[in-house]
Amino acid sequence: MSNNIRDRIARYTALDAPVGFEEPVLLAARDELTECCERVEVDLRGNVYAYQTGTDANAPRVMITAHADEIGFMVTSILAEGFLRFTKLGHPTDTVLPGQRVRVLVDGKPVEGVVGVKPAHILSVEEARQIPPLDEMYIDIGATSDEEAASWGIEAGTSITYVGELIQTRNEHRCFGKCVDNRAGIVALLEIAQRLQDKPCAASVVYVVAVEEEIGLRGAEVAAKHVEPDVLFVLDTVPSGGTPDLRPDELPWDIGKGVLLKVREVKGLSTHRPLRELVRATADAHDIPYQWIVDTAGITDATSAQQASGDIAAMVIGIARRYAHSASEMFDIRDVQAQIDLTVHATSHITSTEQLNRV
Ligand SMILES: [Zn+2]
Repeated sequence: MSNNIRDRIARYTALDAPVGFEEPVLLAARDELTECCERVEVDLRGNVYAYQTGTDANAPRVMITAHADEIGFMVTSILAEGFLRFTKLGHPTDTVLPGQRVRVLVDGKPVEGVVGVKPAHILSVEEARQIPPLDEMYIDIGATSDEEAASWGIEAGTSITYVGELIQTRNEHRCFGKCVDNRAGIVALLEIAQRLQDKPCAASVVYVVAVEEEIGLRGAEVAAKHVEPDVLFVLDTVPSGGTPDLRPDELPWDIGKGVLLKVREVKGLSTHRPLRELVRATADAHDIPYQWIVDTAGITDATSAQQASGDIAAMVIGIARRYAHSASEMFDIRDVQAQIDLTVHATSHITSTEQLNRV
């Protein structure tokens, strides 16, 4: 099972789909959802919706969502010598950029490149400690002039991603690569849809592959208004602790220790309390490992969806991954398995609106 999930994540992380350029993931996910859902539709923004009707028309409606996009970059101009200036799509980490391999996404024929870095030999001690500001960084694609770069199809607005294929570590459970955030979530969503097709639940379920999360949680906000669910499960990644550069109390959770359940996103989401207890009871009943977390820094689509749709019980069922927003995000496949199992069982346990009453 885990090998299947790993191979599927490898396939989805190999797709290049930065914010606003999510089509490769949308197309692949749409095709797979068409196989296991009754109806699939796509809105103007690009959000993919897939529907499974439950066995009880009075049961709450459940929306399960994962975002399709990844962080990346965008060409802002081509210098006379053929180098590219660029801006960010979302929030890649500046410290990892110098020397980073990237792919410029020209339709049909991607152009490989590298973010330039000054030779260590000529840097002063002071300079060697500093990251250049973004507007001084550049991408070298091997072009010798702006005409040559333009002839390869590059222009202002061309998008760029990290290069970083999924690598299996010697530990059979741990892998790293680009855009584990959130292709792991997309794969979890597809696995959940297939499991619930075989074993329909009382609730009707709408699966949403959402766009534009990394620049302001935008697609899910539109989707929540469209679907008007009673219950929302957001499948996403969360920055992990457990590394030597973090105090244990900074991010007190780690990879390989179970699915992450958010009590709060301090900048937004307040997790619905009865839903939280339903999920806790489900995890306990099925021996699924979990870690409760209070996210003081990050937000997910659960925040925007909760704000957009109002009367909704929302929750994040996430996984930890180290080295967030680098080209080498490390995660533990067992956490993805726990995310899938818990979401499947919790959705099956949602049978009546009374379960969601707060008082
Ligand atoms: Zn994410």
